[in-house]
Amino acid sequence: MLPVAGSDERLLADAVAAYARDLAPRIPAAEEAGAIPREVIADLGRLGVLGMTIPEPDGGLGASSVAFALVLEEIAAVWPSLAVGVSVNSGIAEGTIVRLGTPEQKKRWLPRLIDGSGLASFALTEPGSGSDAAALRTTARRDGPTWVLNGRKMFVTNLRYAPVAIVLARVGEMDAHRPHAGITAFLVPTDAPGVVIGRAESKMGLLASDTSPLTLEDARVGADAVLGPQGTAFGAVAMAGLDGGRIGIAAQAVGIARGAIDRAAAYARERRQFGRPIGDFQLVRNALARAQTDISAARLLTLRAAWLKDRGRPFTTEASKAKLFASEMAQRATHVAVQTLGGYGYMREAAVERMARDARATTIYEGTSEIQRLVIARGMLSL
Ligand SMILES: Cc1cc2nc3c(=O)[nH]c(=O)nc-3n(C[C@H](O)[C@H](O)[C@H](O)COP(=O)(O)OP(=O)(O)OC[C@H]3O[C@@H](n4cnc5c(N)ncnc54)[C@H](O)[C@@H]3O)c2cc1C
Repeated sequence: MLPVAGSDERLLADAVAAYARDLAPRIPAAEEAGAIPREVIADLGRLGVLGMTIPEPDGGLGASSVAFALVLEEIAAVWPSLAVGVSVNSGIAEGTIVRLGTPEQKKRWLPRLIDGSGLASFALTEPGSGSDAAALRTTARRDGPTWVLNGRKMFVTNLRYAPVAIVLARVGEMDAHRPHAGITAFLVPTDAPGVVIGRAESKMGLLASDTSPLTLEDARVGADAVLGPQGTAFGAVAMAGLDGGRIGIAAQAVGIARGAIDRAAAYARERRQFGRPIGDFQLVRNALARAQTDISAARLLTLRAAWLKDRGRPFTTEASKAKLFASEMAQRATHVAVQTLGGYGYMREAAVERMARDARATTIYEGTSEIQRLVIARGMLSL
């Protein structure tokens, strides 16, 4: 038993692990088709996974962030594309609505994000602003009882499945000295007039996860679409949402690495060369042992950040450390897994090939490794 995880949390993760294992035969076709089957999203709704961190009075299970990290690890160990969709829906989007939403906003959107009818999106990145998110150019202006949004968002996860996207836009002119000022979050229904979902990106990995551009062409939403206090969304929504989201991506990276290394260890037991299982060779053992130790360290960092979040303690730096270490560890671990399977590891039919491609995104989204280092150093230096 992990020190920060109670038996209820482990039980929930075990139930999800059993479900995820049964999904395995369906994954190659879904990755080929570039879509998560709707019924899988519906199943996650029925299992309670999509609302697990939402408080019980708001219709969820009220589970901890630790439990959520364990569940994401289990999903990612089998299907990383599904894990990132769940992480964005339940970690960033629902988490922000629970934290900042009005009772009406919660009543309108949370049931649709819990029940498995869709997965929510979080639209921050733009063609000209990624790491420098405060430089975003999407605008929002008030027009009588409505808000009118214009701009272009890039790389939006889940957009095709989303009933709603949290969109970050600027109200008023940009102040070069305070670029984050005026940034406001909107709950934008994806069927609102002026909302255009572009062609899904063709990616290196995470092929079943939807990543699409969102164009807002005089998109109109009601006055009640503003999420949280106007003008404060850079800190209150973007940065705070990403703090929590980074724990989810760290858990995803731990799951990918574990899934790949478990397969490599199984192969090393069976595959024989020079008359012995390759797992008998010290070079193979060394690589597997290092990867396994790395995975345990990354899991502990991840669960520690989740544990701090559950206790209402500051966790920004710890989430960045977990995300940085786990995502870079997943590169090394998936490399070892492909190497251990030799030529078979390079072939499409080997799950480790897919996992190596999927792992690559984890050092990029929700803040690159470079940005995590900046966050960690800022915490150390207070500069
Ligand atoms: C699969 C996928 C899904 C995504 N999903 C979403 C989503 O749902 N919503 C969303 O809003 N975004 C999403 N993104 C976008 C993602 O968050 C950005 O790609 C990421 O933040 C990096 O931004 P960028 O791509 O513009 O790179 P840039 O910011 O242009 O960075 C390019 C390089 O420069 C480095 N760099 C930049 N600034 C600094 C600095 N100050 N110091 C040192 N190095 C620096 C970066 O680390 C990187 O190596 C997704 C991306 C991917 C790949």
